[in-house]
Amino acid sequence: MKIICVGRNYAAHAKELNNAVEEEPVIFLKPETALIPGKFPFFYPSFSNDVQFEVEIVIKINRVGKNIAEKFAYRYYDEVSLGIDFTARDLQSKLKAKGLPWERAKAFDGSAPVGDFMDLKEAGSINDLHFTLLVNNEVRQKGHSANMIFSVDKIIAFVSGFVTLKKGDLIFTGTPEGVGPIKPGDKLTALLGNNQLLSLDVK
Ligand code: MG
Repeated sequence: MKIICVGRNYAAHAKELNNAVEEEPVIFLKPETALIPGKFPFFYPSFSNDVQFEVEIVIKINRVGKNIAEKFAYRYYDEVSLGIDFTARDLQSKLKAKGLPWERAKAFDGSAPVGDFMDLKEAGSINDLHFTLLVNNEVRQKGHSANMIFSVDKIIAFVSGFVTLKKGDLIFTGTPEGVGPIKPGDKLTALLGNNQLLSLDVK
């Protein structure tokens, strides 16, 4: 399986990092080793002093597809969760300044914890999902899927024009504003509506 991520998909977040609002989705990948199994913690990596949280809606692909039309994209997912796109911001800034790929700052081990999945029938309309990230029980990010620049269906149509989607692939759909640093001892909790889907300790 693969993890496909969208960058700069909320205008207010693009602005907080001084990035342009893009005309096409910004896409990058994380490997399977970025997932954190079960209730394991996130171990702060030695190569960064500025790992930041980005809470994102995560979609699970339920069948194989290529060149999927936007109007049929809804057939390719029926479960939703929340994940954290952990980013070594210091390393990413260095790589961006040199025009180099971001992978080392985005794809490292444990950089993509994902919570429990919910059936979309229970969660609600994909374009009307509210989500919240708490750090140590304090609200740090609040998002609404209606504010995505590129909707989930647009992302699926776009990505599948380049990469075949397979059952079990995950799509991280971008973070709203409010990203910030973590430190060992922090506890991250993510809620979709009122449903707590993710709880993660930083060690
Ligand atoms: Mg992100």
